[in-house]
Amino acid sequence: FTSKLPHVETSIFTEMSVMANQYQAINLSQGFPEFEPPAFLKDKINQAISEGKNQYSPSNGLPELLTEIANMVHRQYQVHLADEQKIDGLNNVTITSGATEALWVAIQTLVSPGDEVIIFDPAYDSYEPAVELAGGICRHITLDAPSYAINWAVVEKTINAKTRAIIINSPHNPTGSILSQADLSALQGLVEQYNLYVISDEVYEHMTFDGLRHESVLRYPELFKRAFVVSSFGKTFHCTGWKMGYCIAPDELTAEFRKIHQFVTFCSFTPAQIAIAQMLKAQPAHITELANFYQQKRDVLINALQESRFSLLPSKGTYFLLLDYSAISPLNDREFCQWLTKDIGVAAIPLSPFYPAEQRPAYQQNNKVIRLCFAKNDDTLLKAAEILCQL
Ligand code: PMP
Ligand code: GLN
Repeated sequence: FTSKLPHVETSIFTEMSVMANQYQAINLSQGFPEFEPPAFLKDKINQAISEGKNQYSPSNGLPELLTEIANMVHRQYQVHLADEQKIDGLNNVTITSGATEALWVAIQTLVSPGDEVIIFDPAYDSYEPAVELAGGICRHITLDAPSYAINWAVVEKTINAKTRAIIINSPHNPTGSILSQADLSALQGLVEQYNLYVISDEVYEHMTFDGLRHESVLRYPELFKRAFVVSSFGKTFHCTGWKMGYCIAPDELTAEFRKIHQFVTFCSFTPAQIAIAQMLKAQPAHITELANFYQQKRDVLINALQESRFSLLPSKGTYFLLLDYSAISPLNDREFCQWLTKDIGVAAIPLSPFYPAEQRPAYQQNNKVIRLCFAKNDDTLLKAAEILCQL
């Protein structure tokens, strides 16, 4: 049997979570919250199920949810735009089964065999296989610690006649870096000059810290004309297992996106759509309070690790913090995470799997960095930090 993805292994998130369970380690590896979704949201999903709202929803998503998402976007990113520049829920938003489906469908919509897509490493693991299965080729640009900033001159040199799209992710998994207004305007310049498209993975959009603003593509109408903006309610409402995501794109791109989406899943889980629409309407403050909530979590972890021998990298957004362990161990990052899980009792994610397979050995020679997820109760974070401080 000829594999279509010969280089792909089981995802590092699966590997580390399985190992964490097996060795009863505190699991700060795979990114998921330890807290429950808001009580209101759980009540509403239970109610939808018990009231018999259990059949297919419209393929694009329930209209009331599409409208509530548009309202949220208007409030958060588009207050200063003219009405005709604002997104329209019914024409521009499509509900998907997680951001993963939205990314997949956006990539299938854009990429034809031979097309090149620029991605920045470390990169979330689902981008490259989706590009490859569409027949495309990823052009990798490495971002360097500690800032993991994008050098747009390098991006411009990488663009050629085959370049079709650039995938950005801010706030960035795994590094916690974020893009600035200057980044978005550099991106817009290149996209317009070279006729490219953008896929903007904004699943951590509501989690930026220290007063920093999330620079959504949805703030920039000219850039949005050539963009698919992807997000996920899993992160926002502590319900990653519901797999509820969405994609926002201009009319024409949305029409093409929907053609493919209808044959991937047709529609997403109806009760969750009903409940989330009600949640967005009734409790918008949950979203605006999220940055503060996670900033406190980040700071609990940072403070508790002050006395450790890890060196901490900046986390400006997401629910991840990177630690450099070069003062502690000569092991490579994967071995270090295995040892940490089995022998020490804390599970983390190595960074090397976020780089292309052929670059990993060289990367591991020079970099000793792991990722911790701080979407956990303070007790859990303090317990993990106490253990890590003993290394
Ligand atoms: N993009 C990034 C950067 C992510 O971290 C994740 C999930 N951890 C996803 C996409 C996928 O989101 P979902 O679970 O909604 O499919
Ligand atoms: N995005 C999550 C993380 O980065 C994991 C999602 C998954 O398991 N595929 O940890």
